Amino acid sequence: MVHGGCLCGGIRYEISGKLDKMHFCHCQMCRRGHGTPFANYVAINPRDLHYMQGEELIARFPSSESTVRTFCSRCGSNLEFSPRTTPDETWIASGGFDGDPQIRPSFHIYVDSKAPWFEITDNLTQYPVSDD
Ligand SMILES: [Zn+2]
Ligand SMILES: [Zn+2]
Repeated sequence: MVHGGCLCGGIRYEISGKLDKMHFCHCQMCRRGHGTPFANYVAINPRDLHYMQGEELIARFPSSESTVRTFCSRCGSNLEFSPRTTPDETWIASGGFDGDPQIRPSFHIYVDSKAPWFEITDNLTQYPVSDD
């Protein structure tokens, strides 16, 4: 069971199922949305994500026709990245986890859009766009 929350502490969640495919995303939307050179996400089944408190603080931003990003309306912390095309899979921003989620990153995506000033120094697989 993984627990996590946003920066202000208003939103708290619990993930009851399996965490999968932790990865770094270098696309420009993630870079802008996170204010960092890349985002780090883990795939989960949305049915395994339970908001324990602060669900009313969740704001939704459709960043494309196929994707909704959620964040805390009070502190701006990124939460979910939900592709509408895969209802059994949502991505959650791993930086919000408490402690060690016991999964490690396995690949990079959208490396073609990588910040030119950031150098990838690990040996994980790099996909120019997505992983499929
Ligand atoms: Zn917050
Ligand atoms: Zn991205």
